[in-house]
Amino acid sequence: MSIKPTWRANSFVDISVDFLKANDVGIVFLDLDNTMLKVNAKLMDEEASAWVLNLVENDIRVRFLSNNLNSRVMKIAAQLGDIEAHSLSMKPFAGHIVKGVLATEKMHLEKAIIVGDGIMTDTLAANLLGTRSVLVNPVDDSYLIGWFNAYRRWFIRWVYKDVGMIG
Ligand SMILES: [Mg+2]
Repeated sequence: MSIKPTWRANSFVDISVDFLKANDVGIVFLDLDNTMLKVNAKLMDEEASAWVLNLVENDIRVRFLSNNLNSRVMKIAAQLGDIEAHSLSMKPFAGHIVKGVLATEKMHLEKAIIVGDGIMTDTLAANLLGTRSVLVNPVDDSYLIGWFNAYRRWFIRWVYKDVGMIG
C-alpha cells in the first residue's frame, strides 16, 4: 500500500476551524513533537496553545497522540488544562488508542483526523486505521534540520503532488 495523507499543510495554523467543520471533523488526534513544538521545547508557544484551545472552544475535540514519554507529554497537556493525551502511542500502531477514544466519545472513524509531521508515524497510522490525515511541515527550522527539511519539503511536494494543500 502507498502511504498518503488526505491533505498537506505548511503548518497547523493553516488548519482552521472552518476547514475542519466543512469537512465534518469532530476530533483531532494531534502529534506534538515537530508538529506543535520543537522536540527540545518544554511547552507549546502561545500560537500553538491558542490554536488548540480555539478548536476546543469550537466543539472540536482534541487528543494529543504522541510517541514521546509520558512525563513530557503530560506536562504539555497540563499546560492547556483538560486536553487528554496519550503518550508512548507507538504510532503507526496506535489504532487501539484511536479506536478506544472513539468508542468512549461515541464518535465514528469518519469524524476523526490525524495531524502530524511524520509520514511513517502519523500519516501511516491514519492510513492503517482508515482515518483522514493532514501532513504538516516540521516546525524545527534550526540550521541542520532546516537543511534536511528543505529536501524533505521538495520530496513531499513531488511525491504528494496530487494531495491537496490546506491554506
Ligand atoms: Mg512529530
